[in-house]
Amino acid sequence: FNVPIPVNEPVKSYAPGSKEREELLNTYNELREQQLDIPMYIGGEEVRSGKTGTIAPPHDHQRVIATYHQGDASHVQQAIDAALAAREQWANMPWESRAAIFLKAADLLAGPFRARMNAATMLGQSKNAFQAEIDAACELIDFFKFNVKYMTDIYKMQPESLPGMWNRLEHRPLEGFVFALTPFNFTSIAANLPAAPALMGNVVVWKPANTQIYSAKVIMDLFKAAGVPDGVINLVYVDGPVAGDVIFKHRDFSGIHFTGSTGVFNHIWKTIGENVGNYRNYPRIVGETGGKDFIVAHKSADAKEVAVAITRGAFEYQGQKCSAASRAYIPSNIWEDVKAYVIEDLASLEMGDPQDFGNFINAVIDEKSFDKLAKYIDAAKKDKGVEIIAGGNYDKSKGYFIEPTIIVAEDPSYVTMCEELFGPVLTLHVYDENKFEETLEIVDKTSPYALTGAIFSNDRYAIEVASKKLSHAAGNFYINDKPTGAVVGQQPFGGSRASGTNDKAGSMLNLLRWTTARTIKETF
Ligand code: GLU
Repeated sequence: FNVPIPVNEPVKSYAPGSKEREELLNTYNELREQQLDIPMYIGGEEVRSGKTGTIAPPHDHQRVIATYHQGDASHVQQAIDAALAAREQWANMPWESRAAIFLKAADLLAGPFRARMNAATMLGQSKNAFQAEIDAACELIDFFKFNVKYMTDIYKMQPESLPGMWNRLEHRPLEGFVFALTPFNFTSIAANLPAAPALMGNVVVWKPANTQIYSAKVIMDLFKAAGVPDGVINLVYVDGPVAGDVIFKHRDFSGIHFTGSTGVFNHIWKTIGENVGNYRNYPRIVGETGGKDFIVAHKSADAKEVAVAITRGAFEYQGQKCSAASRAYIPSNIWEDVKAYVIEDLASLEMGDPQDFGNFINAVIDEKSFDKLAKYIDAAKKDKGVEIIAGGNYDKSKGYFIEPTIIVAEDPSYVTMCEELFGPVLTLHVYDENKFEETLEIVDKTSPYALTGAIFSNDRYAIEVASKKLSHAAGNFYINDKPTGAVVGQQPFGGSRASGTNDKAGSMLNLLRWTTARTIKETF
């Protein structure tokens, strides 16, 4: 079980004039002109249905940069068949070979694939270079490397034996295939959801979000270049219900690895429940879903630190991180300072296309998301007891641009304090500085979610109180730091309540779900 000790991939800065910046920009410009025709990948074959959809950058929605081939139920069936055909050989492959493939993927991504993966993420998902780098390059490299280590940690877990016997646990892949249903907002998550079960010896049918197909193709190229055998990971583009109808009725469906909305996950869970009894095994259901992530400041907090946490934690990648802060509770004694810092900081942030490296804010992912956010902002402009103190403007003429917006609400149960918006809108409530504990109760109760949250305080007693009272309000709890930016191997990521099954991506806990042990007792 000797594998390379993983170290987090250093983040490149893309400083002005650097070679890496030039290479990234050149790759971005090349990709933009390429007009890729993106096939599905089933059993190692490129599959073109002939029924095509178009892909345009969210920040430049009239510019078609690629087409992709839409599949139907027959393609999902083919993908399952291809996965099951590849299963035996893959499951029986020595773990060292599986490890080597994903370590090679990490190496290729750190080197020759880095610029293309980042550029594809910038172009297809409207991420700026820094946000692309920490996701599509660093986090994905880390997932590959750390998961190999965690796999061996699992294999090392063995029972005791008495004289005359040898007891052992054989950690096997699941019997059947795994379905990876992946989101647009992190290229690394889109890749890790199929890759983690595959590393553990499983075969996978992968359906990405339509808004992430562009970088999904690059991920598939990376898997191939690293040596993932044909049929182990099969990539199809189909409507969710069409895929679900074939997959969740299949006898060999053995698990789902999901990141997406709570509503979709609830529906999946019910569908699996309806089909239970038809499956060979009880499927593993692993999902990371919505969030209504909070920042709570105590009266002892430093106003500037709180302000920086708000602007970075709420607005990086346009607030489209499951972990993004979307509600904040600020005590009255520091409010004027926090407000002044936040307004000053937001005024310095530029918005525009990601290829201009000065732009901190880019476009939100699509028109549906834009329209939904605009509706909430418009309502806040009219509603009583709420005030927009920053942003509030939007424009979709060229791209889906929404200014970072802060709504201040007198009522801590105002609609945008409770509902997940998934965009650059934060709602803030100013509370009486002497009502800290009551405020913690409100934080715990006003949202069904429990993904991430942050407490800012210089008073240890207050930190302890918050930690206890909010014990189940966040799967990732940050003390004096923003609630985003979990690093693989350092802050295992995931939440409970309506935020998911809390199987902690970037840790052994996640990989345990993709293996099923046989206990063997042998006597001598
Ligand atoms: N792991 C990411 C973070 O901590 C968020 C993942 C997500 O958005 O699903 O920022």
